[in-house]
Amino acid sequence: MFGQLHILGSGSAHTTPCHGCSCETCKEAIKNPKYRRDCSTYLFKFENFNILIDYGSHLLNKFNLNLLKINYIFISHTHPDHIKGLYSLCWTKQAQIPVYYSNSEISNAFQFLLDKPKNLIFKEYKKFESIKLNDNLEIIPIPLNHNINTHGFLINYKNYLIAYLLDTKGLPKKTMDFLTELNDLDLVLVDANYGPDLMHKSHNNINEALDLINQLSPKKSIITHISHLNLPVKELIKYIQKNTPKPLNRQIFLAYDGLIINFQK
Ligand SMILES: [Zn+2]
Ligand SMILES: [Zn+2]
Ligand SMILES: [Zn+2]
Repeated sequence: MFGQLHILGSGSAHTTPCHGCSCETCKEAIKNPKYRRDCSTYLFKFENFNILIDYGSHLLNKFNLNLLKINYIFISHTHPDHIKGLYSLCWTKQAQIPVYYSNSEISNAFQFLLDKPKNLIFKEYKKFESIKLNDNLEIIPIPLNHNINTHGFLINYKNYLIAYLLDTKGLPKKTMDFLTELNDLDLVLVDANYGPDLMHKSHNNINEALDLINQLSPKKSIITHISHLNLPVKELIKYIQKNTPKPLNRQIFLAYDGLIINFQK
């Protein structure tokens, strides 16, 4: 296997269904468990390397991966829906797990982990400074637009280029320039927290997510970080197809919890 992404949590802080809500998106998820979404958790596998980007809930257990070796964790930002799984994972019986984070803005929830790291080893990253994990794999933190300091990541595995872009509304110019200059993105993961009629200062709605995909023109895209304030899944799939130019629309996938994407170069 060249590489793989296993999405364990494709939802927002609310999760879907949101407790006590009976909107159409929540109703769909109450009826059909496959439409339920947990908090941001993305497992990347590259040969013998397993990397978690964000760990919003302790989802390794749910997917029967409790014995999987985790080599590294990268944290995009310290909102609880991206880190709270670490409260359980810090008790791991595996060797200590390095966790890369930015110290540019730390939530109280994350400070608790820094003070009591147990079996996690926290390491700082800096924007645009490449972290070479081995000869074939490097990760570059790239700034995003969110309501606290947040970094996405450019992952370069043997020249297979993946951009992880959540949580964000659009992209800062520097990040957009950096990604468009590469001109060869294989896979992009994009925040689409809201439905088409909602505008928010810290997340994309589905139209803004599609605009971003259009601008970046990657070979494949995944729409993710979907909240119950987005359209129900069946409608959202139709909406994406209708509002994306061909042939780009054939390569846009809607994330769900459990989705596996295999990489090929
Ligand atoms: Zn989030
Ligand atoms: Zn709802
Ligand atoms: Zn956030």
